[in-house]
Amino acid sequence: MVESKKLPRNVPGKYYTTEECDGCAYCASVAPANFDYEKDSNTYFVARQPQSEEEEEGVLEAKEDCPLDAIQAYGNGRGKE
Ligand code: SF4
Repeated sequence: MVESKKLPRNVPGKYYTTEECDGCAYCASVAPANFDYEKDSNTYFVARQPQSEEEEEGVLEAKEDCPLDAIQAYGNGRGKE
């Protein structure tokens, strides 16, 4: 798999967005507590790592359905670590 570049504003932790993001806002619609928008770059970044199972489900849904595959996770991105 090609390594994509992580956007600088992602908070440290498991999930992050990459520069493939085009700001479509889908992720923030399914996980509004976890993704935030940066206007200058027109990208979304992980503003808060999931703090509950419910939030993690939302982030995983965003990750699976992101049209540009711009949400990545360290590890396998599933399951609890
Ligand atoms: S769903 Fe993907 S492409 Fe759309 S804003 Fe979120 S990270 Fe970016």
